[in-house]
Amino acid sequence: MEASKHRAVQRVRHELRRREVVVTEVTQVGANFVSVTFRDDSLADFVSLSFDDHVKFMIPDGSGELARRDYTPRRYDTQSRELTIEFALHGEGAASDWARRARPGDSATIGGPRGSMIIPLDYDWHLLVGDATALPAIRRRLEELPASAQVIVVAAAAEGDHLELASPAKLQQYWVADEDELIAVVRALALPAGEGFAWGAGEAGAMRRLRDVLGAEKAVPKEAMRVSAYWKKGVADHHENLD
Ligand SMILES: Cc1cc2nc3c(=O)[nH]c(=O)nc-3n(C[C@H](O)[C@H](O)[C@H](O)COP(=O)(O)OP(=O)(O)OC[C@H]3O[C@@H](n4cnc5c(N)ncnc54)[C@H](O)[C@@H]3O)c2cc1C
Repeated sequence: MEASKHRAVQRVRHELRRREVVVTEVTQVGANFVSVTFRDDSLADFVSLSFDDHVKFMIPDGSGELARRDYTPRRYDTQSRELTIEFALHGEGAASDWARRARPGDSATIGGPRGSMIIPLDYDWHLLVGDATALPAIRRRLEELPASAQVIVVAAAAEGDHLELASPAKLQQYWVADEDELIAVVRALALPAGEGFAWGAGEAGAMRRLRDVLGAEKAVPKEAMRVSAYWKKGVADHHENLD
């Protein structure tokens, strides 16, 4: 695949803001997935320009400190001053435990986004790969892509967490159970012709493997790829860009 002559990821910085927000709605959207909507007047000027932005979600950790975790602004509305985050629930962790118990009226602090990496919409194709933690970003991207776009999603999640993937774009989707299958499906993909962009997010080890397959086997150039570790087995609050 040739490097782009005209398409480039654009980095935009935002003024860092902290907002105290209150839960207005909690919806169980999957077996291990909770959608939480927050409201506060300070969200009137909330800005999130890219589907893979993140906010710092801050809640008391029980020992007088604040636990800080990264979450995707899944949806926001500056008119109604609302922000929705979708939490993948897992074994144990400050944020996951908080989300499992979240009720309207609960409060939290949200910082950022600090910046956005804007990936052009007009690639010939888009590949979106990830585990449950990447689903909010993938679902947001799918809603934002135009009808002219061609998108392939490869997602690993428990069966009860196969959230709806809806997009105006032409969508090809693969659901798998675990990271080995995720890598196997990507490896077996025949990527469409033309210039594309590959995006991936999930557990650190899986994402390292994904980056290697995309680069070495699929010849996706570095500048047409963004792969991030959204968490790491055995480590709290891990975030790393791998490309
Ligand atoms: C840019 C970015 C955007 C993200 N967006 C989202 C999002 O929209 N929704 C979302 O659910 N997550 C998202 N994540 C992932 C989320 O930040 C991590 O899963 C985070 O570690 C969860 O915090 P915690 O307090 O629940 O667990 P932690 O205290 O951080 O970790 C406790 C233990 O749980 C393990 N662990 C952490 N996450 C998982 C998991 N998902 N599955 C299994 N074990 C886990 C850790 O390895 C550790 O051993 C995002 C991460 C990044 C970097």
